[in-house]
Amino acid sequence: MTAAAELLANLSTSIQGGAIKVVDLTQTLTPTTPVIALPPEVGANSPPFSMIPVSNFDEKGPGWAWNEIRMGEHTGTHFDAPNHWHTGRTYPDGGPATIPADQLIAPACVIDCSDESAENPDFLMEVEHIKAWEEKHGKIPAKSWVLMRTDWSKRTDPDAFLNGGHTPGPSIEAAKFLAEERDVMGFGVETVGTDAGMAGMFDPPFPAHHFMHGNNRYGLASLTNLDKLPPKGAVIITPPLKIAGGSGSPLRVLALVAG
Ligand code: MN
Repeated sequence: MTAAAELLANLSTSIQGGAIKVVDLTQTLTPTTPVIALPPEVGANSPPFSMIPVSNFDEKGPGWAWNEIRMGEHTGTHFDAPNHWHTGRTYPDGGPATIPADQLIAPACVIDCSDESAENPDFLMEVEHIKAWEEKHGKIPAKSWVLMRTDWSKRTDPDAFLNGGHTPGPSIEAAKFLAEERDVMGFGVETVGTDAGMAGMFDPPFPAHHFMHGNNRYGLASLTNLDKLPPKGAVIITPPLKIAGGSGSPLRVLALVAG
């Protein structure tokens, strides 16, 4: 057996045996799944999740049930592709159908901002918070995800989750630093979007989107269970639906964690 074949066999054995745990970082999709609410002057809004039966063991299909689903691409736990943003729109490999598959399994660094976010819903993670994490855990490796833990996913009431647009996120400098100085794979959050709720008023507006996608990097929003991940060492699996011409998609995000 080659070393790689042995590694792969050990991986599946370790997952089945529980030595490597699988942590689900995904919200459940329901009609009340919170969707970002843009002020009308900013632009159109995206439809929430809805589902109607095609058949349900009835005259339309006596032996089977299946449904038609409708939602915006950026609903619930979802992937932001570079093509989602004006700064990333021309990357030929920047759409959900064209991102190379090997970019979709990568290590994750988790920066705990839960205390700060509980104190101040408009908390901004600064470069100094990232550097404080690096003091303890070492430099963020290139092509790692950085996940901002805020415990925001514990807000199960949709209104409390959206919080009138007052939600934490990265500062302009932190978003630029992660994309340009750390060359991360992407930036993930527990809130409805990768930017802070007030980031529409920043310069540039929505800096996580601006810098991450402008550098052909990705975003993950509405993650959950980040409190179950170690600061370093988890590997996350993040394949969006392969939508031609799309800008992202809802997805299941799984983390592999040493047990
Ligand atoms: Mn999005």
